[in-house]
Amino acid sequence: MRRPLVAGNWKMHGTRASVAELIKGLRQLALPVGVEIAVMPPSLYLHQVVMGLEGKAIAVGAQNCAVEPMQGALTGEIAASQLADAGCSMVLIGHSERRQVLGETDAMLTRKFAAAQSCGLMPVLCVGETLEQREAGLTLEVVARQLGSVIEQMGVGAFSRAVVAYEPVWAIGTGLTASPEQAQEVHAAIRAQLRAESAEVARGVRILYGGSVKAANAVELFGMADIDGGLIGGASLNAEEFGAICRAA
Ligand code: 13P
Repeated sequence: MRRPLVAGNWKMHGTRASVAELIKGLRQLALPVGVEIAVMPPSLYLHQVVMGLEGKAIAVGAQNCAVEPMQGALTGEIAASQLADAGCSMVLIGHSERRQVLGETDAMLTRKFAAAQSCGLMPVLCVGETLEQREAGLTLEVVARQLGSVIEQMGVGAFSRAVVAYEPVWAIGTGLTASPEQAQEVHAAIRAQLRAESAEVARGVRILYGGSVKAANAVELFGMADIDGGLIGGASLNAEEFGAICRAA
């Protein structure tokens, strides 16, 4: 049985004061046992969140790491080793906002994925198609290419210590959620791609859905066979809503 994971990606939101409020709300939540829960604050607030959630069963992750695993001369970046030192246990790799706005390529993301694992962080590899690609019937091809480039470089075994997050770009922050059936189709394809290389890895890997997940649609989405939890954006900024989503997993 795969242990569901619900992770809150806070993106570029927060101030010291609002982060303190959110920590307070998270600390008060009654959390389901058997579900792994994580939050991913902006790097600037990682220390505050790690300290603030001490003793609460919520892991802390980062939203990005440098291509180089160890500290060094790379202005403005944060090494995976530093994230681990700060108390992170996982890191998002290749969120569509970084692929699209910052031009992150599959080659760069493979280096980040490797850097994360070499420092003991669990990469959460984000994949997903744009609306144009979906309308052109390219969804499965695009996702297979994004995943395939990491499998090719890292080997399928790397996914025994990684999570995949399927986030259709058109569903992110738009209020448009993929239907459970649309999401399941892509999740099944992702698992099949991994299964072609290793049945064991495919059975164990968690594939999260992300894109306008709310408490109101989480039960249906998480009920699908290949959806093992969620990557939550906007709704994770509200502790109560996030707690309800965690309980749906
Ligand atoms: P929303 O839940 O705000 O649509 O964001 C999803 C996302 O991008 C999580 O990484």
